[in-house]
Amino acid sequence: MIPYGRQDITQADIDAVVAVLQSDYLTQGPAVPRFEQVVSQHVGVKHALAVNSATSALHIACLALGLGPGDWLWTSPITFVASANCGLYCGAQVDFVDIDPQTYNMCPHALEAKLQQAKAQGKLPKVVVPVHLCGQPCNMAAIHTLSLKYGFKIIEDASHAIGGKYKDEFIGNCHYSDITVFSFHPVKIITTAEGGMALTNSDELADQMALLRSHGITRDAQRMTHEPDGPWYYQQVGLGFNYRMTELQAALGVSQMNRLDAYVSRRHELAKRYDFLLRDLPVVTPWQEPDSYSGLHLYVIRLQLDKITKSHRQVFELLRESGIGVNLHYIPVHTQPHYMQMGFKAGDFPKSERYYEDAISLPMFQTLTEVQQDIVVNVLGKVLRA
Ligand SMILES: *Cc1c(COP(=O)(O)O)cnc(C)c1O
Repeated sequence: MIPYGRQDITQADIDAVVAVLQSDYLTQGPAVPRFEQVVSQHVGVKHALAVNSATSALHIACLALGLGPGDWLWTSPITFVASANCGLYCGAQVDFVDIDPQTYNMCPHALEAKLQQAKAQGKLPKVVVPVHLCGQPCNMAAIHTLSLKYGFKIIEDASHAIGGKYKDEFIGNCHYSDITVFSFHPVKIITTAEGGMALTNSDELADQMALLRSHGITRDAQRMTHEPDGPWYYQQVGLGFNYRMTELQAALGVSQMNRLDAYVSRRHELAKRYDFLLRDLPVVTPWQEPDSYSGLHLYVIRLQLDKITKSHRQVFELLRESGIGVNLHYIPVHTQPHYMQMGFKAGDFPKSERYYEDAISLPMFQTLTEVQQDIVVNVLGKVLRA
C-alpha cells in the first residue's frame, strides 16, 4: 500500500534519539528548549512552547486567551476535530464558518457576514481558529482586519503548514494572529512521533501557556506569592496539565528540522508533477494562492462527478483495493454525532459538505518516489475512465 502520508526517519534522527536515551534527562532537560529555539528562529517568532500534541497546544492556547463558559470559538468545518474540540474543553460553545470553494479554507466573506449577524445578536466569538488546510495559508490579512473590527483573538491551526510561507514570511511568525499551533504527528511535515507546539510573540501568553503545560507550577520566584521556602520550592499558581514533550521527541524534532525546507520543496516538486500528470483527468487539482507558499501537507483532488460514471465512494474503494492509500480530509466536523447532538445539521455549511462529496487526498510525502507517483496516477486514470 502506498500510504497518503508517511514519516521519514534517517540515521541522524535515530542517533539523536539514542543520544538522549543515554543522557541524564529523558524529560525536562535541554532538548525541549533547544527544539523550541530552533523552530522559533526558523519561523521568526519570539516564543515557542513544545507540548505533547497539537491538540494540547490548541487547548492551552484557548485557555491562555481566556476562552471559557459563555464564550464562542469559531473554526472551519473542514478540519480535524481537534480544531473545534479545544473550544469545548474550555466550556465554550463552538460554531463554524463555511469554506471558500477554491482554497477549502475558512472563507473571509462568510466570516464577515457571520460576524455582522453575531454582533446584532450579541454573540461575537472570542476566538477564531483559521486552519491552513493542506498547508495553504488562509487569507490571514483579511481575517486579521476583521479581528480588529470585531474584537476576537486568532489561533492559527497550522498543523499542516510548518515550512510554508504567507506573503514571503514563514507561517508561525504570528504577524496576523495571537498564537499559531503546529503538529508533529507522523503524517505531518516533520515529526516527533506525537507532539505539537504553540508559538506567540506575546510574553504574557507564553508565560500563561508555560504554566498550563506543566500543572500550573512555577519555579520562578518572581511569580510566587512569597519568597521561596528554600531551594526545593515551587508553587502552583494556577491549574494546569501535564502536556510536556519528552526529550526524546524534542531531539527527534531538532534533527527533523534540519530537513524541513528540503521536505517542503520536495512536496512542491511532487505537487507540480501531480498537477501535470492529472491535467487530462476529470479531477480538479489544488488551487495555489499566488502570494503564499504552501507547506503541502496534503494534495487534495476533487472528482468531477458529472464527468464520470463511478461514485466518489467507488473511486475511493477501487483506489484502496489497488494499493493506493488515499484518504479524505476531512469529514465536516459539524456532521459528527457529537456536534449534531448540539444542534448542527446537514445543510448548515453547504460548501464544506459539497467538498466532502468529491474530495480525495492522494499520497503526498517527502519520500514518495516518482515511480510510486506514476502508479497512483495510472491507477486513478484507469478507475476514472473505466
Ligand atoms: C493533526 C491535526 C491536529 C491535531 O494534531 P495532534 O498533534 O495529532 O494533536 C489539529 N488540527 C489539524 C488541522 C490537524 O491536521
